[in-house]
Amino acid sequence: MLKAYKYRLYPNEEQKNYFANCFGCARFIYNQMLSDKIDHYKETKQMLNNTPAQYKEAFPFMKAVDSLALANAQQNLERAYKNFFRDKSIGFPKFKSKHRSKASYTTNNQGGNIRIEDGKIKLPKIGCVKLVQHRTFQGKIKSCTISMNKSGNYFISILVESADETPQLVERKIGIDLGISDFAITTNDLGETEKHKNPKPLYKSEKKLKKAQRSLSLKQKGGKNRNKARLKVAKKHEKIANQRKDFLHKLSKKITDENQVIVIETLSSKNLMKNHKLAKSIGDAGWYEFVRQLEYKSKQKGRTLIKADRFYPSSQVCSSCGHRDGKKPLNIREWDCPTCGEYLDRDINASKNLLALAK
Ligand SMILES: [Zn+2]
Repeated sequence: MLKAYKYRLYPNEEQKNYFANCFGCARFIYNQMLSDKIDHYKETKQMLNNTPAQYKEAFPFMKAVDSLALANAQQNLERAYKNFFRDKSIGFPKFKSKHRSKASYTTNNQGGNIRIEDGKIKLPKIGCVKLVQHRTFQGKIKSCTISMNKSGNYFISILVESADETPQLVERKIGIDLGISDFAITTNDLGETEKHKNPKPLYKSEKKLKKAQRSLSLKQKGGKNRNKARLKVAKKHEKIANQRKDFLHKLSKKITDENQVIVIETLSSKNLMKNHKLAKSIGDAGWYEFVRQLEYKSKQKGRTLIKADRFYPSSQVCSSCGHRDGKKPLNIREWDCPTCGEYLDRDINASKNLLALAK
């Protein structure tokens, strides 16, 4: 089983320079190879098979960085091509930009040249870099991706191969409705319903972000203060992303720890629209990320994740008697079933209907 662990890195100045070179070279070789592939295809209608080694003579500065960083850039490019050929809607591989693309490079463990010792990680070509490991792992390091975010913090994501654990089966089943005022509403087969609120600190951070964005928009272009303001906005964005991720990880862990069968609605453009309209106060509500986490955690723990058909009328049917009432506008949050008289809360009712799909 492969699992990634992400930690903060604290490189010294020399190491920061080295990382900047690696980011730059990985981006450079990617773009160079992409551009040559495009030209070659225009001329010959054939795909060019190029490798980083062919470029080292012409661009000797690339010799200073980890050659695996370049090999991984090549692999990324090939993956981007493969994805494009598999599904044209993904789009043709794009050139990487210094400002818009993520600054990162990947290197591989070869014969133990990457290892963690005394709060430091040993990396090819640069030696030991300080890291803060808030949790440890068991297993063999396969590869590492070093990255820098917009506010200049460094991270390392370590891919680890570990023995498969035999999953512990549990009994419970749960239905999850993704909500608007609450992030998610769940009902399990014991009839326990829970509303999981969006974390309050998120709203606070959101307010601060808006303030920082306003202040940035007032700064003159090219002015000294503009960069400062931009950095502030980037930091607020990161804070929100971290708070949201933290919340989603806790919730997806709890749900996959406690339940054997998990039913969730399929995200469609329709409910993303409702998400966009009504949940925009907290920005992207993180539904996609939440479903992604439920997917991989279910896989790790041997759970069954069922995605309801996108046309499954989870909010139109009475969960008590099965009477189908037809579509209801989003502002209708509760009603009494005209057939059996049961009082229905829209989100709880939907989570119960989703639970009914658990086998
Ligand atoms: Zn009813």
